[in-house]
Amino acid sequence: MSDIIQLLPDHVANQIAAGEVVQRPASVVKELIENSIDAGATSITLLLKDAGKTLIQVIDDGKGMSATDARLSFERHATSKIKDAQDLFNLNTKGFRGEALASIAAIAHVELKTKQEDDELGTQIKIEGSEITSQEVVSTAKGTSIAVKNLFFNIPARRNFLKSDTVETRHIVDEFQRVALAHPTISFLLHHNNNEVYHLKKSNLRKRIVAIFGTKMNEKLVPINEQTDIITVNGFVAKPEFAKKKRGEQFFFVNNRFIKSSYLNHAVVNAFEGLLESGSHPSYFLYLEVPPNTIDINIHPTKTEIKFDNEKALYAILRATVKHSLGQYNVAPVLDFDRDATLDTPYDYSKKSNSSVPPITVDPTFNPFKTETNYKEPSNTNSSPKSSTTHSYQSNFKKDTGSWEALYTNTETIEPIQQEQLFESEQETETGKTFQIQKKYLLSSIKSGVVLIHQSLAHQRVLYEEFLENITVKEASSQQLLFPVNISFSSSDIEMIYSIKSDLESAGFMFDEFTKESVVIAGIPTSISESQITLILEQLLDDIKLEVPDTSFSHFDVMAKSFAKSLAIKTGASLNPKEQENLVNNLFSCKEPNISPFGKPTFKTLALNEIDAIFNK
Ligand code: ADP
Ligand code: MG
Repeated sequence: MSDIIQLLPDHVANQIAAGEVVQRPASVVKELIENSIDAGATSITLLLKDAGKTLIQVIDDGKGMSATDARLSFERHATSKIKDAQDLFNLNTKGFRGEALASIAAIAHVELKTKQEDDELGTQIKIEGSEITSQEVVSTAKGTSIAVKNLFFNIPARRNFLKSDTVETRHIVDEFQRVALAHPTISFLLHHNNNEVYHLKKSNLRKRIVAIFGTKMNEKLVPINEQTDIITVNGFVAKPEFAKKKRGEQFFFVNNRFIKSSYLNHAVVNAFEGLLESGSHPSYFLYLEVPPNTIDINIHPTKTEIKFDNEKALYAILRATVKHSLGQYNVAPVLDFDRDATLDTPYDYSKKSNSSVPPITVDPTFNPFKTETNYKEPSNTNSSPKSSTTHSYQSNFKKDTGSWEALYTNTETIEPIQQEQLFESEQETETGKTFQIQKKYLLSSIKSGVVLIHQSLAHQRVLYEEFLENITVKEASSQQLLFPVNISFSSSDIEMIYSIKSDLESAGFMFDEFTKESVVIAGIPTSISESQITLILEQLLDDIKLEVPDTSFSHFDVMAKSFAKSLAIKTGASLNPKEQENLVNNLFSCKEPNISPFGKPTFKTLALNEIDAIFNK
């Protein structure tokens, strides 16, 4: 047989390498900015169009490249940063693999302009899909500008795989924040679609953190400083009372490189022991300096995971240092573990009389089996539901009710029957009566036995369908705030809120004014109250970051899920009999009552014969 193995042409090898190095626009941003930092830039500008899908351009004032180097920089394994394997263990640069530019040039249209300080003229190179299309001598400023256009133009599958602009922008901002935090003495500018998102002046670490995460961050920071033989730790942790429900602002830098480490994260969280409410996560910005020869950075293509020689010692030092600082700054537990449950619980019928509308509006006489549905709209909705809406609700209802319809009937019949027949009058059988168990479950007797309902998951389902209906089918009802509220966010979060502004408006929000770090909210959906605005918007931002909806997908579903999760009654909330009854009724008037919006079961029935079986063993 003849030989069949052959070396891949360079452009194919580059494309394959690109698969590892370049997952999305944010990967390009990271590689280009890191190159600028390695080139000694003091000022770096990042320009984006359409979340980087159309354009990513990085301009720096670094040392630039000669004409020959400019050409070579696009070759694979071409690097000025290491010469032999030994150098790998003494890295002072971000890059060293020499494959970023080659990879990027294999899958995009790239335009490079670069000039060294002492040269009069610079070099311009255009390269598309690894092919150089032009090289010219040009006059340009000292430093380097690289524009990457039409990313993945020759790999449609990858291009189609990209997420919505909001999500891709979020990934870019994450990368941007990481390098900007690692290098406070470099000034950074970020423009997206010609809007300025960040203008970070050369500063110190504390000011840089505040410039990125908003002025409110300043009062939250507790400084950390520790120097030992094997490690120096600097930076800040946020006071425990500012811990977040979702992991958000958690940053480790090792020798000025952002890294992820669940091991070190554990050390920090451990230092907060006893100071955090369960389920909340402390924010931190921790900068570790270790001798370069005690770490291995080359274990991951994007270099965000590294290996430490003496992990255990680092863990102990980190934990002790953070604990010490928390103690020193007298961060006593001012946490209020017994805070007013209504803060977490919008399911509060005592408020029914005042202007704010409770999140669930219930028609106790509602009967899903009647042909004419009486599903009641929130009381201060001005518009009555369009009849088509009512119908689709009704017809879906009938289709999907099979699973639970049987709950309240013990006969074969699927004839519409009256509610009174489902829940026989209480004097006779106690059917339909509910009990709350451990402030977590509702137990309701039904004709065939009992049904056990998870109160929080059930309420999530109810709210989810209500929001989805409000947002998508009819114009959501909005309540104008008497005094518009001004809420502070980091500028990247503001950017994100702005990008989903119209979706939020469909949900009932009204916005007055956007500034770089705040938004003025003039109206909110009737189903939420003013005190919940920040909470649910923060939750929504977290969810959008995590849920990663695809391009074709609107944010409606994520939004409805997020709102439902934020606003649902929680385990631990006690419900009075009326509230219990309303929840049960509302659950079983949902289209899909048996699962929560996140796919968990909302209730379980136990038929009489199953109960009997327990005792007849
Ligand atoms: P690496 O960073 O791993 O060396 P890259 O493919 O990212 O590999 O870059 C290749 C080379 O191109 C670098 O080693 C550097 O010499 C040069 N280079 C890239 N970007 C810049 C820049 N912004 N300024 C100066 N030189 C650069
Ligand atoms: Mg590089």
